[in-house]
Amino acid sequence: MTIFQRIIAREIPATIVYEDDQCLAFRDINPQAPVHILVIPKKPLARVGESEPTDTPLLGHLLVTATEIARREKIDRSGYRLVINNGPDAGESVPHLHVHLIGGRPMGWPPG
Ligand code: 5GP
Repeated sequence: MTIFQRIIAREIPATIVYEDDQCLAFRDINPQAPVHILVIPKKPLARVGESEPTDTPLLGHLLVTATEIARREKIDRSGYRLVINNGPDAGESVPHLHVHLIGGRPMGWPPG
């Protein structure tokens, strides 16, 4: 069981900002910006690269939910970044799909 599954099960504390039947969103423990929230599916899908066509509605739901949280966090006008790290070269460290919602400060491009 991954650490994120333990957060879903409330075995590990997290600052949860949103929950519905399909997903959970909570603040990153090591925030890289004033707003850094992880939006994760409740279904234990390891990474976006392992999604299947049947996951299309779920993936869309994660993104739309992230945009709604961005509005609630009042970073929708200033801008924000949605990031999904897939695999070692991308820096994926938890094998449970998560969308990073990062904002509240200017960011450079491309990422390092
Ligand atoms: P990744 O590098 O896999 O894309 O992102 C994993 C993220 O999960 C990191 O930003 C890291 O700070 C965050 N994280 C890891 N463990 C925990 C935890 O126990 N609680 C919370 N809230 N975030 C975590």
